[in-house]
Amino acid sequence: MTGPVVRFAPSPTGFLHIGNARPALLNWLFRLRHHGRFILRLDDTDGLRSTDEYAQALVEDLTWLGILPDAFFRQSERFALYDAAVKRLVGEGRLYPCYETAEELERRRKLQLARGLPPTYDRAALKLTGAERTALEAEGRRPHWRFLLDHKTVEWDDLGRGDCRVDCASLSDPILRREDGTYLYTLPSVVDDIDMGITHVIRGEDHITNTAVQIQLFEALDGRLPVFGHHNLLTTASGEGLSKRLGHLSLRHLRKAGMEPLAVASLAVLVGSSEAVRPVGSLEELAQIIDIGQLSHAPARFDENELAHLNTRLLLELPFEAVRERLASLQIGGGEDFWLAVRGNILRLSDALGWWEVISKPLVPPIEDAAVTGAGARHLPPGPWTKDTWSPFAWQMWTEAITAETGAKGRALFHPLRLALTGRERGPELANLLPLIGHDRARARLEGEEA
Ligand code: GLU
Repeated sequence: MTGPVVRFAPSPTGFLHIGNARPALLNWLFRLRHHGRFILRLDDTDGLRSTDEYAQALVEDLTWLGILPDAFFRQSERFALYDAAVKRLVGEGRLYPCYETAEELERRRKLQLARGLPPTYDRAALKLTGAERTALEAEGRRPHWRFLLDHKTVEWDDLGRGDCRVDCASLSDPILRREDGTYLYTLPSVVDDIDMGITHVIRGEDHITNTAVQIQLFEALDGRLPVFGHHNLLTTASGEGLSKRLGHLSLRHLRKAGMEPLAVASLAVLVGSSEAVRPVGSLEELAQIIDIGQLSHAPARFDENELAHLNTRLLLELPFEAVRERLASLQIGGGEDFWLAVRGNILRLSDALGWWEVISKPLVPPIEDAAVTGAGARHLPPGPWTKDTWSPFAWQMWTEAITAETGAKGRALFHPLRLALTGRERGPELANLLPLIGHDRARARLEGEEA
């Protein structure tokens, strides 16, 4: 048996944001968990709003998240398939031409509402005779095309929502093709889902009504029905819907702000689920702990502060191997010892650079208490130091010697030492930094010399 086939179908009309990352990730995790295939399908039939720049950015952003599609398609290259489906549906009477202008439709809608009727399309165009249609076309009108819905209740067993049902009698026949021949999203999506053998359609709950319509379209085109799964949507921390205009929640921005892709991915899927938000080691691990069925039905709030917090927790758990190349590309040395010393004291990986400079570049040490730092210099263990020099015992001997000489304890002891050794108020355990700073530099700094 072959594994499932899923797809992520964004329209390249803006940068991916955390809200679109959710379906992308849920599909990708599904693929990982069930050993399937993941298709990236650009929903770019809207030639005016879709751009290559966005298409490229999309692939970059997905790659950054760790999503590497197994196949890639652009709907703009597949019009022949959609045209063939149109021909078939027209031939079978499921797609019919309509000539109303937007203003006419709006007027009718208002009238229906005024009479207390549901504002659905009244199918007036179905009653047009051939002669009437010819007359309308002679006026220069071009038809748009509506799909004739079966007025039945469509039901499916949803991966995310369980039993779903939509009464299609309450819906307008959807327009599948516009006057100018361009397509709306519905038909290309179904034609491609059939053609690509999509087995599971995982997407936001804003598509639930579309799903009912699309199920009818699958049936009309004799396509095999995929399993559907709808996930809850993300909102901002204050509860607003996410839109492409919220640039600061774009994946590019989060990347620039130094957020780890795994932190973004974990929060994007774990928030609003039955699983606790926590750092994970890999997307594979995430795939094992989360499933679309565990998501809540209410919208989930994406909070940047929570992300920043998760990011620091994640960094603290990242092994050296996971960051080796990135540290090297930032020109950070010090190997594993350095990483283990500083990873608990950074908000973003790039903050490690500041600590590397503390270790590797001269600084003018602020001397807060010359008696303490002077004693510190005199009682240092002799160099050169190895990583075993600063054992807990050696640390205790050193600090006790300083206390014996100066009487300083607690903050009065540690603060001047830290300040002189690192130039900073806070930071990693000094015992972990000292072997990296080295004997000569540490001694000079404690003596108040630039080193
Ligand atoms: N382009 C659509 C969207 O981003 C695709 C929805 C779907 O997955 O079918 O909402």
